Amino acid sequence: MTSHDHPQRDSPDWENPDFCPFCGAGLTDGGAGFVDHIEDSPPCEARFESWREQIADDVGSEWGG
Ligand SMILES: [Zn+2]
Repeated sequence: MTSHDHPQRDSPDWENPDFCPFCGAGLTDGGAGFVDHIEDSPPCEARFESWREQIADDVGSEWGG
């Protein structure tokens, strides 16, 4: 088991979150609300960018065996 601060990429919660996976703030409109939220919340935007980079790293490192 690995520990993550964010929902799994294939999780329904990530596809259409009703809350910010980083700070837990309620979102008004699922995915679109999340985009608006990170624009208003630089810490969450930074974590989102880090998360996206981590996905790329995961594919390269964890799946390499
Ligand atoms: Zn947030």
